[in-house]
Amino acid sequence: MKKLQWRELLIIGLILLVLSGSTYGWFLFSNFKDMEVTMESEIRLLQNSVRVLREKFTSTTEVNSELVTELNQERGVSNNLSQDLQTEQAKNTMFESQIKEISGTVNTLQKLSQTDEELLSKYSKVYFLNENFIPQLLTRINAQYLLDNTATKQIHASVDPFLSAMMEAASKDGIDLKIVSAYRSFEDQAAVKTGYKVLYGSGANQFSADQGYSEHQLGTTLDFTTTKLRSLVTSFDKTDAYAWLSAHAYTYGFVLSYPKENVYYQYEPWHWRFVGVQLAKRLHDENKYFYDLAQRDINEYLITIFDR
Ligand SMILES: [Zn+2]
Repeated sequence: MKKLQWRELLIIGLILLVLSGSTYGWFLFSNFKDMEVTMESEIRLLQNSVRVLREKFTSTTEVNSELVTELNQERGVSNNLSQDLQTEQAKNTMFESQIKEISGTVNTLQKLSQTDEELLSKYSKVYFLNENFIPQLLTRINAQYLLDNTATKQIHASVDPFLSAMMEAASKDGIDLKIVSAYRSFEDQAAVKTGYKVLYGSGANQFSADQGYSEHQLGTTLDFTTTKLRSLVTSFDKTDAYAWLSAHAYTYGFVLSYPKENVYYQYEPWHWRFVGVQLAKRLHDENKYFYDLAQRDINEYLITIFDR
């Protein structure tokens, strides 16, 4: 009896053991199943997320490439615009230079129309200055430059600054240089000539031929001497004054009209005519005299005659 009880107990124990074990196994199994379901759903969620992200990425890439295309188009447009701008600017520059050119031409014409062409004309025994010619504006020469400082001598107003500068420079260099005659009207000249005729008869033209007188009527021509000589004599060419004029007068626009052995007129070392700095410089550089040049060459300097 006792043995049987033990066996039964053992069997019951075993049955209990098996029951509890299988319950635990079931518990584990069902738990595992649950976990599997959870993981599966999580995986699905993740897959979904990946899909959504992928779609987003794709659409973003598309938008990007669209933007790049648009940007390139805009760049093209802006390139075109900047080219257009450059073209317009080039046009404007061209117009500007054309306007400058035109106004330059207008200035030149205006200047020429205001400058008497007689100022650079060559005069000869057959071509005289018109007796009615009077310089545009005459001004009184500073009396301290005159041989007779009580006299009144006039000069073309535009030439006066050049003459004053030259006289000041000569004085600074210690040169004894004085003006004997300057502007002479047609009437003045007629009186001078009559005077000569009384003295020398028909030979007067030798002394006071019309060529030299024409230049004085322009108001741009001067006769110089020194306080020692006090007159117009060829020995003026032996003075320091003449040497100084020969070296410097051209820089003030003055030239000797009738040099030694010229074929136009008698030698007059005292007689200097204003022809403008540029022409005087050219004559000096080429070792030529005013009357050596052709009139058409001389005329080119009319526009700049009063330029420094
Ligand atoms: Zn003279």
